[in-house]
Amino acid sequence: MADTITLTIPRQKNIALIAHDGKKHELIDWCKANAEVLKRHFLCGTGTTARMITDATDLPVRGYNSGPLGGDQQIGAKIVEGKIDFVIFFSDPLTAAPHDPDVKALMRIAQVYDIPFANNKATADFLINSSLMDEEYDHEVINFQQNIAHRAETL
Ligand code: PGA
Repeated sequence: MADTITLTIPRQKNIALIAHDGKKHELIDWCKANAEVLKRHFLCGTGTTARMITDATDLPVRGYNSGPLGGDQQIGAKIVEGKIDFVIFFSDPLTAAPHDPDVKALMRIAQVYDIPFANNKATADFLINSSLMDEEYDHEVINFQQNIAHRAETL
């Protein structure tokens, strides 16, 4: 069995939108500015962020729990299940948050699954203007069946 498997991020992406409190209006403005692209994809987000984007724009954003109540973990779990393949997370580097471990966990699992992840507006601008937004994208991730088989044999 191979060490990696090829997964495909589809043309129509499942995009998670998250903003810390101090960045929510910046993300809403970014969503308004990029609504033409965003409406071609499936959108979801942590509870308050999703609600505020839906209220301020015509974009439908499926809401998970609020971030401090486990929303970031729900989004991480969806990445593991292959149901979220793109993350825009305007995090606030100047404010301490009670759910910082959850945020770190989300960033880590996005790395493990090679998920495009923007943690500020400039990165989000570069991502959203990529020609890959309208294409399928094949990428290699760790083959987890192989990983388990190898671990069970060798540990
Ligand atoms: P919220 O969560 O959208 O419910 O505010 C975001 C976060 O702080 O992670």
